[in-house]
Amino acid sequence: LASRLNHSESTVVQVGDRKIGDGSVAVIAGPCSVEGRQEIIEIAKELKREGAHLLRGGAFKPRSSPYSFQGLGETGLKFLAEAREVTGLPIVSEVMDIENLPMACAYIDMIQIGARNMQNYPLLKAVGRTTKPVLLKRGLSATIEEWLMSAEYILSEGNPNVILCERGIRTFETATRNTLDLNAVPVIKHLSHLPIIVDPSHGTGVARYVPTMSMAAIAAGADGLILEAHQCPESALSDGQQSITPEEFSRLMQKVEVFTSAL
Ligand code: PEP
Ligand code: MN
Repeated sequence: LASRLNHSESTVVQVGDRKIGDGSVAVIAGPCSVEGRQEIIEIAKELKREGAHLLRGGAFKPRSSPYSFQGLGETGLKFLAEAREVTGLPIVSEVMDIENLPMACAYIDMIQIGARNMQNYPLLKAVGRTTKPVLLKRGLSATIEEWLMSAEYILSEGNPNVILCERGIRTFETATRNTLDLNAVPVIKHLSHLPIIVDPSHGTGVARYVPTMSMAAIAAGADGLILEAHQCPESALSDGQQSITPEEFSRLMQKVEVFTSAL
């Protein structure tokens, strides 16, 4: 079902009022974690003003350590929904388990399946039984074929609204947090009709490399970007080192606009 073989037309997924996969570049931005009501509303307003199309923010966080900030849970989703009220931006947030799925669906516009859950097949089947758009991130060590098979789990349950997200893979390289596999963009475009966006924040793990790799992702043909942005990255509760400031986001958006109008 994910293959281009019997489906030559590219799929366009609508999230809120935004189309992803229609040839334009969709920009999703926001903090790694929702940290508080004021914080998410304030950054959402700034990102909207600078041209973001969707708002991201984690409420259920898959942290490597159980002692790290785990997210605000449903309270975080409520704050995100308030930020949507204020800005009109559709919201994207990760769901980590089946129990929280119906509750989360009541708030969010797109379900994010994180890299660590790409092969959580019961969860994939459960999101496949909803009609919500699903942002399926590539697993840390998943091949493109394994990733497409995970998309297949969602599609085969009846949900056609799948967007793939390349977020970097594990390699021997340690200069960056992950190795952003931009090969995946043309490979997915060749093999599948599904939209693919790129996450240069997790892909590099370093804020200073995010603008360059964002432009590279667009040049490779990505349908969009998902970027971590924070008012004050040094004090972020998660992923501050890879979060850009609203000012950096603004500069990046100017470049994206010039670049996409030339494409
Ligand atoms: C995130 O988007 O904050 C996240 C945890 O991403 P990933 O699942 O790609 O690590
Ligand atoms: Mn993060």
